[in-house]
Amino acid sequence: MIKERLILLYKLCQIDKELSELYSLRGDLPARIEELKSEIDTLNTRSNEINSELNIILQAEKEKSRENDLLLEKIEKNDELLRTGKVKTNKEYDAIALEIQEAKTKISENEKFLENEYSEKKTSLENELSVINEQLKELNEELEQNLAELSELTKQTEEEENELQKKREELVLKINSEDLDNYEMINKVKFGEAVAIVRKGSCLGCYSSVPPQKAIEIRMAEKFYSCESCGRILISEELINDSNS
Ligand SMILES: [Zn+2]
Repeated sequence: MIKERLILLYKLCQIDKELSELYSLRGDLPARIEELKSEIDTLNTRSNEINSELNIILQAEKEKSRENDLLLEKIEKNDELLRTGKVKTNKEYDAIALEIQEAKTKISENEKFLENEYSEKKTSLENELSVINEQLKELNEELEQNLAELSELTKQTEEEENELQKKREELVLKINSEDLDNYEMINKVKFGEAVAIVRKGSCLGCYSSVPPQKAIEIRMAEKFYSCESCGRILISEELINDSNS
């Protein structure tokens, strides 16, 4: 009889509805976890970029300061030459004085270069890095929390899910294959909502109204009806109440 077949589909729908609720409980967490992982990846990439830029600056600073040390040494040596009067000719004297002057100029150029090229950039990179590190700390904490929550939730719902799947398998055995195919086709699109109750002349799936004559026919249940607006399999509320009593 159609009535019994409809009731079976309705019961199947109740199980799928519970399954759908279980999945949706878990559903948000995996998405959030993926989002967090990708945010963390992006920040880690930027943090690596900043660190290598800072390394380049550090290298340049080292080179310039080594160069300046050598120049200072040279200046001192030349100064000593001039002081100790070992220089014989004016020409020699002028050459050494020029060398000292050039070394001093180069030192100040190097200092200016570091100041102009790197000082501001270095500060801004260091600031950005400290902001990123703060963000990474927060995101990693959130990720850990979410992972723990998901693992806890999966543990909790696993049992429930297995029970529902078992109940579903048992019920499916009682349903003829044609009805099941029809149901599964709708269930694919409206998971856990393939069957809708008709109450007081309305489809409770989409709340569109069902013409009075059709509502009577649905209650008689001599054949299958589906909602013209949402496509769900329709079952009259009275039929469910009758089957419960
Ligand atoms: Zn509907």
